[in-house]
Amino acid sequence: MVLQKDFFDLPAGMIYLDGNSLGPLPKTVKDRVAAMIQDEWGTQLIKGWNTSGWMAQPSRIGDAIGRLIGAPQGTVVIGDTLSIKVFQAVAAAIKMRPDRRVILSDSGNFPTDLYMVEGLIKALDSGYELRVVAPEDVASAIDDTVAVVMLTEVDYRTGRMHEMGSMTKTAHEAGAVMIWDLAHSAGAVPVDLEASGCEFAIGCTYKYLNGGPGAPAFIYVRKDLADDVEPALAGWLGHDAPFAFDLKYRPARGIERMRVGTPPVLQMAALDAALAVWEGVDMAEMRSASIALQETFIHHVESRVPQLTLASPRDSARRGSQVSFAFENGYAAMQALIARGVIGDFRAPDIMRFGFTPLYIDEADVIAAVDHIEVVMKDRLWDDPKYLTRQRVT
Ligand SMILES: *Cc1c(COP(=O)(O)O)cnc(C)c1O
Repeated sequence: MVLQKDFFDLPAGMIYLDGNSLGPLPKTVKDRVAAMIQDEWGTQLIKGWNTSGWMAQPSRIGDAIGRLIGAPQGTVVIGDTLSIKVFQAVAAAIKMRPDRRVILSDSGNFPTDLYMVEGLIKALDSGYELRVVAPEDVASAIDDTVAVVMLTEVDYRTGRMHEMGSMTKTAHEAGAVMIWDLAHSAGAVPVDLEASGCEFAIGCTYKYLNGGPGAPAFIYVRKDLADDVEPALAGWLGHDAPFAFDLKYRPARGIERMRVGTPPVLQMAALDAALAVWEGVDMAEMRSASIALQETFIHHVESRVPQLTLASPRDSARRGSQVSFAFENGYAAMQALIARGVIGDFRAPDIMRFGFTPLYIDEADVIAAVDHIEVVMKDRLWDDPKYLTRQRVT
């Protein structure tokens, strides 16, 4: 079963097409977080670390996420933010290719991924170079100078997808280490990390996994490497024996070494409760449902709203779970839509982005959303000074 509207607490009358940016609130989360605060933190206080298993949660929840992305048990751990996980993965990956100096990525990547690499390169000051090419040029840019290929599978702006299996193979044939960012993949498209053979993967949990604003990120390290990777962020909870309080760092066995500091226990409770929705969801079924919604949306927008130009790949197999349309007054148009209860978002310079999450969006929602888009465009409702001022978060 894919559609589970009842699992979520969606405001009446809202059509939420922004689960690719922040998943909605699952009903299970409210009760769980309230109980956690009252019965665990409030009652057990410090004892909760042991009696409520807070300390074991980063791996336990990591395993639950692993099941959605084809990662075996014991290969995923959660904590920190995705930006931090980018840093950890790249820092560990370059150590695996000490004679190479190039980190390759593409111009469709989310800026923080590139910024974190720039920051790492500056801190190392050892001649590393971040090479950024157009998404379609990545495969041909992989040569034997490349230490690491770091890509986001689904482009945050257009939804364009890289082909994970063949790209990883190309990277490996050139002797490079492969890192996949699954920010817009986990919970949206089927992923088989183990089959891909990539060394590292990272992602966030507040988008399609509905963990709530600020929910912790995840990192995957291929099983055969986990005892050898060198953690650059050598925090005490990634130590082999944190409570021995050794003065010298000694990494924990396996994926636990990618932990850094105290885990966000309240956010983990929310995420854990949110992940319950995936029990019994088949990712292949989820993918077909998502594609069906997207195709309906594209068909109706293109036949009824000529002002918008498709900015996502037309081939559904090359598109994640979002559809983007370009429109020169896209920011104002999105504000006008939001005012009517259709929530998407805007990405500079002119992209109106709509995410499709078959867990709580059905065909009737899609048609109703297009009805609103048609009115906003036909009646130029976007052409109103109140929609022109950009807010801090777009
Ligand atoms: C959403 C997203 C991020 C956000 O990083 P945070 O550290 O969680 O703020 C990073 N990278 C990609 C590819 C994203 O889509």
